[in-house]
Amino acid sequence: MLANPLPGRPLIPLAPILSASSFRRAPGTPVRTVLDAGDARLVTSGRVAIALALREIGVEPGDQVLVPAYHSASMVPPVLWRGAEPVFYRVGPDAAVDLDDLADKIGPATRALMVTHYFGFPQTMAPIRALCDARGIALIEDCAHCFIGEHGGRPVGAWGDYAIASSMKFLPIYEGGALVSARHSLDRIVLRSAGAAFEAKIALNSLERGFDYGRLPLVRAALSLPLRAKSALWGRLKRGRGAAAPALAPASSDSSFNFDPAWVDKRSSLFARAMLKLAAPGRIAALRRRHYARLQAALQGLPGVRPLHPRLPDGACPWVFPLLADEPELLAARLQALGVPLTRFGTPFWPGVDAQTCANSAMLARRVLALPCHQELTEREIAWLIEQLRAAATA
Ligand SMILES: *Cc1c(COP(=O)(O)O)cnc(C)c1O
Repeated sequence: MLANPLPGRPLIPLAPILSASSFRRAPGTPVRTVLDAGDARLVTSGRVAIALALREIGVEPGDQVLVPAYHSASMVPPVLWRGAEPVFYRVGPDAAVDLDDLADKIGPATRALMVTHYFGFPQTMAPIRALCDARGIALIEDCAHCFIGEHGGRPVGAWGDYAIASSMKFLPIYEGGALVSARHSLDRIVLRSAGAAFEAKIALNSLERGFDYGRLPLVRAALSLPLRAKSALWGRLKRGRGAAAPALAPASSDSSFNFDPAWVDKRSSLFARAMLKLAAPGRIAALRRRHYARLQAALQGLPGVRPLHPRLPDGACPWVFPLLADEPELLAARLQALGVPLTRFGTPFWPGVDAQTCANSAMLARRVLALPCHQELTEREIAWLIEQLRAAATA
């Protein structure tokens, strides 16, 4: 079990962990996911999907790729892997793409543009698509925060030449990403299995995380022996492979920003692919939207905090709840002391990207504190989160 740093308080998972809520089928409005946008390849991470998209587009040394100044540092290494140069464009104070700056930054060497739907809120895509068509550049829709949702009558991911997704951010899996295209064939991409040790590690790690948070007591009892055996087996496997052997799982599984080209043509694990098949996106979206609405209502009238967006658009499924804090360091310290898990997107940026590159990005990286709103949160945990938020904001 994970040691709870604050005994007596709920141990709230920052990301979805394995339990029943992702999978129980419930009647409700069917929702579309990025996988409905077109042909799809299931890989081991979002960054690998970016690398494949850039390779399919034909990005090569001497080319430039437009990357938002407000970004995850994991978006940049795939650009460098192609030998291309990342050029950072600005966003507005609400993280909307700054179209004027974007148009200014397109030059003769620009081959591709990455657009991110931050926190699950879709960007307004029609003008961006039109700009790409007019200037002859490829559009990569970054749906890492937006696995589920629709925008302008299409599933998210259908606006881009390619879309990428990070299934780990929405499902209780230890690795997983997708490359999707509504416009181009993906036939040239032939993925290979990463091997039996990888398959075993992914399945066991996902189960273990479910146990750590106490979500799977019955399965835990049934599997306690195999899990103990696993640790011993694991040590042996690692020693046997030697230091030069490639890692058993991609870096994205351990929350770093590294990119290892060895994973580019590897298929996602059987476990993650099975989870994707079993998942009930309608239920996941409904729960995430409900948790989001609870947090939004709780923020009303609290001093020094407000939601980054005044409302959650119809058809959107949030990754997290982004709140804008007037005194982010103080509030973050208080929330962390209370045991509230926070995501601070954009910390760190890629080296060299700062307030000079884009003042709004620097402001957002500093002021946005994101709370979990995923489907695995229980009613009790949501109520507890709200209580801590009130205590921290009014302290
Ligand atoms: C997490 C993330 C990625 C990369 O996804 P991984 O699955 O972690 O490789 C890409 N873009 C954004 C905006 C992200 O937050």
